Amino acid sequence: MTTTSNNQSGAAPAFTATSLGAPRIGPKRELKKAIEAYWAGKIDKASLLETAAELRRSMRNEMRDAGLDSVPTNTHSFYDQVLDTTVLLGALPERYDVVSDELDRYFAAARGSAEVAPLEMTKWFDTNYHYLVPEIDDTTSFSLHPEKVEGDLAEALADDIPARPVVLGPVSYLKLAKATEGSGDPIDRLDELVPLYIDLLARLRAGGAQWVQLDEPSLVTDLTDAELDKTKEVYGALSAETDRPAILVATYFGSADRAVRALGDTNIEGLAVDLVYGTIDAVNSSTAFHDRLVVAGVVDGRNVWRTDLDSAMGSLVSVLGCAGQIAVSTSCSTLHVPYNLEAEQNLDPSAAEWLAFGSQKYAEVVTLAAALRDGRESVADKFDESRAALDRRAKDPRTNDSRVCARVDSTRATGATRGDAAARAAEQAERLGLPPLPTTTIGSYPQTPEIRKTRAAYRGGRIDESEYISAMRAEIKRTIELQESLGIDVLVHGEPERNDMVQYFAELMDGFVTTELGWVQSYGTRCVRPPILFGDVTRPRPMTVDWATYAQSLTDSPVKGMLTGPVTILAWSFVRDDIPLADSADQVALAIRQETVDLQGAGIRIVQVDEPALRELLPLRKADQQAYLDWSVRSFRIATSGVADSTQIHTHLCYSEFGEVIDSIAGLDADVTSIEAARSHMEVVADLERSGFSNQVGPGVYDIHSPRIPETGQIVTSLGEALDAVTADRLWVNPDCGLKTRKTDEVEAALANMVAAAKQVRERL
Ligand code: GLN
Ligand code: ZN
Repeated sequence: MTTTSNNQSGAAPAFTATSLGAPRIGPKRELKKAIEAYWAGKIDKASLLETAAELRRSMRNEMRDAGLDSVPTNTHSFYDQVLDTTVLLGALPERYDVVSDELDRYFAAARGSAEVAPLEMTKWFDTNYHYLVPEIDDTTSFSLHPEKVEGDLAEALADDIPARPVVLGPVSYLKLAKATEGSGDPIDRLDELVPLYIDLLARLRAGGAQWVQLDEPSLVTDLTDAELDKTKEVYGALSAETDRPAILVATYFGSADRAVRALGDTNIEGLAVDLVYGTIDAVNSSTAFHDRLVVAGVVDGRNVWRTDLDSAMGSLVSVLGCAGQIAVSTSCSTLHVPYNLEAEQNLDPSAAEWLAFGSQKYAEVVTLAAALRDGRESVADKFDESRAALDRRAKDPRTNDSRVCARVDSTRATGATRGDAAARAAEQAERLGLPPLPTTTIGSYPQTPEIRKTRAAYRGGRIDESEYISAMRAEIKRTIELQESLGIDVLVHGEPERNDMVQYFAELMDGFVTTELGWVQSYGTRCVRPPILFGDVTRPRPMTVDWATYAQSLTDSPVKGMLTGPVTILAWSFVRDDIPLADSADQVALAIRQETVDLQGAGIRIVQVDEPALRELLPLRKADQQAYLDWSVRSFRIATSGVADSTQIHTHLCYSEFGEVIDSIAGLDADVTSIEAARSHMEVVADLERSGFSNQVGPGVYDIHSPRIPETGQIVTSLGEALDAVTADRLWVNPDCGLKTRKTDEVEAALANMVAAAKQVRERL
């Protein structure tokens, strides 16, 4: 095996401190605002480009000024880096050719336009970022469009930035793509991409790049032998070229294991490994990287905790033995964390010192690089400070509440089970007296600008609590009246008081903090501020009971209490790294359990516990999935098994592909499961039946993501399809998901048709 580099820049100076990527939406969401203003026709293209350039420049400068000696470029994006790669490779489907302007064509692919549907969007590995799925079919032909990568590089070099262009690598690009109907597996097209990447590398070399980073996160997932062979072949071919920068292959979100060996057999100059979510074992088990650069991701790029510098040093030392040179890095791009902790004015200072956002992480990387170079003594004060903060975190009573732990233990021990499901169903049917095929909705009703303004005014102290409560009650009353006039059987209060289904609960439970400017990109211009789960979780007081009982007081029909499940609360928060996730899940579950019991005590007969994110936390590797499914199902059962058999538990699941979790849905043992189904033509109902599910089910009969009003006949057809798979006494009628993003008149028209369809089908039974 030869590892001698034969690229022209074989002498490319190894760097010592970097980040694998950067956030781009702007510390104050400047890019989001500019893009949305551009879409609304309020600013022109030139002004959007200027904002973007300014943000790129300040990010690069910040990284360089922090002391990173290699700075990632091409991390900027107007929407998504995978879509950028699709453009780079000339692989946008032909249907977008109808849009002549290049930027508008890009946005059409991202979000659709009057003429064309957008690309599909899906989750980026197990993060909360979403990317646009490349559509590769027999008509796709590839061609290189390197302007953006080259432009970003030139811009950075002009500013004297030690730039390292970052591009999604060919293996991951095709692994993340989907084939359209009838076309072969995209991964079979790897050979066609090789010449394009070779061309790109040569251009980047000509443009002055000494290093290029090819991102290959897919290498940490389960790969087939054929895929591994192909990876070796592709990187063998790229690294055999002489006219190119040094190649750093970046793996992250886990260990690349077998792929490390494949890459070791090629002439790439560097490998980035994730030592927070993965291990060094695969690199350590061979001598392949003995004379190459290993970029050690020891600073967590996707969570917000301050790095334990001593333990990070321990990891770095373990790399020393198997690398020619080491660079310290974040474990992945800092796209997944907020920009800067210093922007937060109101964080509890004792908890703030446990945290590190983007800016703090670059400083940690630089400190660790200095410690490696000059010895720990050279940065002793930084190590002391970190040690002291982490020590206070470990000893803080909020992270060690023995009462919470005791309660978790005892609930686990007594088993989180309810009575026999069929007996429960009979008892509930008698108590609720619902018609066959009962109609309901998923929880939220349109969040009008007025509702948002009222919430903002309350937060900003411009209206007092009693004014706020009466405004929200008026809204709840309107929503109850609307549902009654439509003839819906099981009502909801409409969730006007909730900004977000996770943040609402996080603000009411102890153990969480929320940020003011901790925005991270979820997709495109959508940003979220995930709450930070920092301590043991308790529920100081009921969280939803007043709203639910008020709604119930207005009607004789049952009103569903509406809660978010433990897995979803964790999936959309930054979670602790000092206790197992399963323990946090059960702590949250206990708080939700108390809430269900209080709702029941207040006369609420049905409680829905939403788990739309059940699929999201599924580990990337098959070997880890069952353990996750076991604890996530258990935590849902802890949350929902405190009530009497006569109280009906609903759950709601969405985000279309259930894949590996379908078999676990029966295990949740909810009395009624409403599930997204419209886009899959009810297929999920049959899938559920095959998995052994036997409780009641409400497959979504229309897609709430579209403003289109579903016709009654269409819904009747869907219900007929569902009845092919389940008996009428088990079928509910509801939309796919909550209605908060829709307009009131759309909702009225759609629900009127839904109720009419349910009535028609009932008559035929
Ligand atoms: N109850 C929530 C709502 O209706 C559920 C949202 C979701 O599934 N994402 O808004
Ligand atoms: Zn949903």
